[in-house]
Amino acid sequence: MSNVTVSCRDATELNILVRIMLELALADIRKQGVNPLVTETYRPLDRQHYLYCQGRTIAECTTKGIGSVFAKAYSNPKAGKVTWTLDSIHIQRKAVDVIPQRLVKGKMTAIYNTKDPQTQIIIKTMQKYGFEPGANWTTTPDSPHFQVKGDFSAVFDSKHTTTYVTKAIQSALGIKADGLWGNGTIAAVNAFRSSRKYSDVTSGSLGSTALKALLGKLA
Ligand SMILES: [Zn+2]
Repeated sequence: MSNVTVSCRDATELNILVRIMLELALADIRKQGVNPLVTETYRPLDRQHYLYCQGRTIAECTTKGIGSVFAKAYSNPKAGKVTWTLDSIHIQRKAVDVIPQRLVKGKMTAIYNTKDPQTQIIIKTMQKYGFEPGANWTTTPDSPHFQVKGDFSAVFDSKHTTTYVTKAIQSALGIKADGLWGNGTIAAVNAFRSSRKYSDVTSGSLGSTALKALLGKLA
């Protein structure tokens, strides 16, 4: 069993496309004078179960499908709840938590405050590079959370992307950012690909090299 109490902060554990989006966003955030702290990237299933056990009784955990030995070991009803799902996008390697850190009274401090101006810069910039901010959720908003939902692995295309990703790509292509990956977007993706001589993936798709070059234009 992995160490369930420790969060993984390693960006190399992320899906390759999500990792590229994150690296570009972090560089942009730093350029705006904010010092971003990545508090979690990939989350093993055991850790998700551990987090679910926080703030819940053994019965609540086992009802959800967590094994009884595990639930007995980690159930902690007195703690605050930290998650509402066993199916986090972190498990899929497509989510990341980012907060600002800065000196407060001479001490480097992690800032957990959605209304903080630096948090707002992070939210705005992560969204610019295609992340869905958890801060946007109307029920149980999750301010430090950013995710890229979708059934993609190494390429984005019309079937495997989200409104947030599509809008970021459309902005970088200089076309209308309506969030719909239609024929106009496919044509613009192909024009960009042929201008840079990318032939590694099929027509209408963006692989890691092309995505990095394209989203890099948003900086
Ligand atoms: Zn998260």
